[in-house]
Amino acid sequence: MKLGALEAGGTKMVCAIGDETGKIYEQVSIATTTPEETIPKLIAYFQDKQIDALGIASFGPVELDPASEKYGYITTTSKLAWTNFDFLGSMKAALKCPMGFDTDVNGSVLGEVTFGQAKGKHCVMYLTVGTGIGAGVYIDGKLLHGMLHPEAGHILITKRDTDHYEGKCPYHKDHCLEGMAAGPAIEARWGKKAVELADCPEVWDLEADYLAQALTNYVMVLSPEMIILGGGVMHQEQLFPLIRKKLITYINGYVITEELEDPEHYVVPASLHDDQGIMGCLELARRALEG
Ligand code: ADP
Ligand code: ZN
Repeated sequence: MKLGALEAGGTKMVCAIGDETGKIYEQVSIATTTPEETIPKLIAYFQDKQIDALGIASFGPVELDPASEKYGYITTTSKLAWTNFDFLGSMKAALKCPMGFDTDVNGSVLGEVTFGQAKGKHCVMYLTVGTGIGAGVYIDGKLLHGMLHPEAGHILITKRDTDHYEGKCPYHKDHCLEGMAAGPAIEARWGKKAVELADCPEVWDLEADYLAQALTNYVMVLSPEMIILGGGVMHQEQLFPLIRKKLITYINGYVITEELEDPEHYVVPASLHDDQGIMGCLELARRALEG
């Protein structure tokens, strides 16, 4: 089967052709500008490829309820050119094949569960820490949508007394994880590119603290069997041992499981060489074909 994959990000769109085994035959990257400019390029890429189905994992917020008139729309995004845009409809109008549609982070968790380290698990969370923070959740064969889809980056956290940063989130100021711990927040707080702060332990100690607070809440609410951390900020590998240690400290022995006894295999980096998102799209496409 020949499947199309489209990982739609706020800065770039990754388009690929592959199959149901997760094999990627070819891949291109197209800049995300306006729908008027970008969509025709996406269509032109897929048009003559004879794909059986297409899987799209998109930045959001997106409407995922098939019963809604706005199913497949990008809704209230901060990327204004894309607000209230019928993404899935625009692709369907040009490419007549079955299409799967979900959030970017749900695509990533699906990639990891189908083809990566989370194979065989029933409840898995994928958190991206990049320009924003978002989470995809896989539960018993399905991706969690709920009333919209999780917005786990905007979980409320306790600010450290010594941290006087005002917070980047326009909705929650210095109260939410994304506003305090996404890449732009790190850079605004410390006045340097995150990558240039690699040798400043205080930066990563604070970052790990906020992330561990959030992970503690995810453990309590979802009880995931594995938490995968991806995104640009997680390239700071020094964060992993700090987050694991703080997570165990915050849980404080209240939840005791085999997984938590082995934190190195519980809080883990993405396993598919940054292809988890696009591979997840292949599985979205396969699922769309199955109907
Ligand atoms: P996006 O979220 O836009 O898809 P990324 O996941 O690459 O893209 O996230 C970009 C953010 O990650 C930026 O704020 C950047 O500062 C941060 N970032 C990228 N690479 C690194 C790195 N090596 N170390 C720390 N932060 C990084
Ligand atoms: Zn927020």
